[in-house]
Amino acid sequence: MSDNKNGPREIVILSGKGGTGKTTITASLATMMDKIVMADCDVDASNLYMLLSPKVMREQDFFMGVRPEISRQECTQCLVCVDVCAFGAINGESLEIDPVECEGCGVCAWFCPQNAIELVENRCGKWFSSETRFGPLVYAELFPGEENSGKLVFAIKEEARRLAEERAASHILVDGPPGIACPVISSISGADHALLVAEPTLSGLSDLERVLDVCHHFHIKASCIINRADLFPEVTREIRRLLDEKNCTFLGELPFEKGVMDANQRLVPFVEAYPKATLTRRLEKIAARLAVL
Ligand code: SF4
Ligand code: SF4
Repeated sequence: MSDNKNGPREIVILSGKGGTGKTTITASLATMMDKIVMADCDVDASNLYMLLSPKVMREQDFFMGVRPEISRQECTQCLVCVDVCAFGAINGESLEIDPVECEGCGVCAWFCPQNAIELVENRCGKWFSSETRFGPLVYAELFPGEENSGKLVFAIKEEARRLAEERAASHILVDGPPGIACPVISSISGADHALLVAEPTLSGLSDLERVLDVCHHFHIKASCIINRADLFPEVTREIRRLLDEKNCTFLGELPFEKGVMDANQRLVPFVEAYPKATLTRRLEKIAARLAVL
């Protein structure tokens, strides 16, 4: 998709870790860009939908791996399965299987002398295709204890791309997961551009460097904004030096705004709650630049 000049441009919004204000910024940018489709790939803590009040149009189960089910009729309680489970997931008295400890390896089913254990598909979450006032939004919910998955991120992006094609959207805005692990790599796969949201702290600086290296490795062009830049001007200067060194486009500094918390509590994008704030004016400029990057 990255070389497709006619199709929608895919912009993934990343931060090296959570808490940088990435989702707040994504929601506000979404209100200011035309013909967009949004995808929330932060499947562990999906919260973009909360700010955009979506109407769910389609809901789909997400399956990954298998989980064992013991047939009580066929089981003779020989406890072979308890002995062979390397994860201690089967209770030796009740033969209940702990879904958090179970890795779905299937060894218990293999060794059960009665063939009393069936491996069934593991339903570990759901994803939703929805409509918002600003365009379609695809997002997911992982069930408690289930592991985050690049496969689920891939499913969300596939649906977002399908919708973008159908609606002739100009951009797909992807709210990426924090960190640099597998789901982040799935999020940036096929993207045209990465917008990095940095925060001016020493850990924020090293997180930014790591995520820039990931973008560089996958040949994804990146730009960066520094959120709450006025809180620690010295680190902000360090971040700008790093961006120069790494040839990353600097899109601007955003000031700390008390109203962000209020807007988030009211479940509305900041720029709608505070249309005249300095932060809103800065975000308007960033949205305009992003649309032509
Ligand atoms: S190995 Fe099979 S028969 Fe033995 S306790 Fe486990 S489920 Fe039951
Ligand atoms: S599938 Fe593997 S981890 Fe799960 S209960 Fe069976 S042996 Fe243990």
